[in-house]
Amino acid sequence: MRVEISTKRIYSDFVKKVEEINGQTLPPCYQCGKCSAGCPMSFAMELLPNQIIRLVQLGLEEDIAKSNTIWICASCITCSLRCPRGVDLARVMEALRLITMRKNIDHVKISEIPQETIAELPQLAMVGGFRKLTA
Ligand code: SF4
Ligand code: SF4
Repeated sequence: MRVEISTKRIYSDFVKKVEEINGQTLPPCYQCGKCSAGCPMSFAMELLPNQIIRLVQLGLEEDIAKSNTIWICASCITCSLRCPRGVDLARVMEALRLITMRKNIDHVKISEIPQETIAELPQLAMVGGFRKLTA
């Protein structure tokens, strides 16, 4: 992946918004990878949790949006508990989902889910999924 680094992006409204929703200034991540090593969903992620935190620090919102990672994250908080620098990555993932949904962007189109799938899925799982994946 080719990344463009600039101070404008690092001090962008996007980074401020992540910190604001997150409720804390992002602590320094030194890319040890412990978050990704313990993540039970990393096998399905296009970008690993440590890569996401680096992209957030660099203000590269578009690159984060191109990957499926924030939607695959199961909010299990393993990454937050493993981080030696106190980065609450699970909350960062939640902040990134909220920022996307506030733009009225749905990750799942409810109208495109086949009727048979809806009939088979447990209702509670569907409601939980829609809360997480739709604006
Ligand atoms: S565990 Fe913490 S310090 Fe290590 S890569 Fe992940 S966020 Fe960064
Ligand atoms: S909260 Fe998300 S990113 Fe962190 S370990 Fe769990 S699934 Fe992975």
